[in-house]
Amino acid sequence: MSSSLDRIRIVLVEPAGALNIGSIARVMKNMGLTQLVIVNPQCEVYGEEATRMAVHAIDLLEKARIVPDLPTALQGCTRVIATTARDRAIPTQLETPRQVLPWLVENDESTALVFGREDSGLTNAELNYAGRYLRIPVGSEYSSLNLAQAVGVCAYELQMCMSNIDPDLPNVRSQIPQQLDIAPVELVEGYYQQLETLLLEIGYLFPHTAPHRMEKLRRLYNRSQLSPNEVALLRGILSQVRWALNTLAPQIGKRS
Ligand code: SAH
Repeated sequence: MSSSLDRIRIVLVEPAGALNIGSIARVMKNMGLTQLVIVNPQCEVYGEEATRMAVHAIDLLEKARIVPDLPTALQGCTRVIATTARDRAIPTQLETPRQVLPWLVENDESTALVFGREDSGLTNAELNYAGRYLRIPVGSEYSSLNLAQAVGVCAYELQMCMSNIDPDLPNVRSQIPQQLDIAPVELVEGYYQQLETLLLEIGYLFPHTAPHRMEKLRRLYNRSQLSPNEVALLRGILSQVRWALNTLAPQIGKRS
């Protein structure tokens, strides 16, 4: 299997079912994925239940990285897709696995596919780290798949993106032009923090409006896939505004 699948992290946020974790390790190995990252697991990752379901994928389970929060799981990733079982209140374009997963495969960078908790999925704040959103189309009566089965469907599609097994499916590496130089999540996060601080200071945001407005701004910027140079450009603007406030309108600037 191509090494490109090695660059795709499967990130599970606070999974509570050890059986699910084992099944996920197994299907990942079946499909040639190798990187499992688990955020704050709510069950035993290396216990009897998980290893029983992992069968011949115990090595993948043992190599799984356990991290305290989502930003740590996504460190170094340039492209992040979040999965959801349901429509969200905020206008968000949901795409099918076949539409969106080639985006993770078509480059040589670290990328991530994020799955939510079995009972409540991902929070809106967690969705905000993603540039695109995936929903597996299912019947309207019951849209929520079992976590391991959702990972299985996506892992299969990722494998098909990479392989020539089925000549009817596109081999994306040969078809999609490379779009290089996307800033990693933590770099863009630094910009959001700087932006929020400044907008609070000048009274565009208030503590009670900040989360909702910042969510909208994050989605806008995430859609455009900023490069490191563009992040530097935007941060440069903020730094200049800060300078101008301190110099020209110190009564505002000193509120910081
Ligand atoms: N009530 C929760 C269900 C979570 S199911 C919710 O509505 O979000 C657990 C996880 O499995 C989800 O967070 C998502 O990562 C994945 N999942 C389940 N069904 C899915 C679907 N139809 N499409 C994409 N991901 C799905």
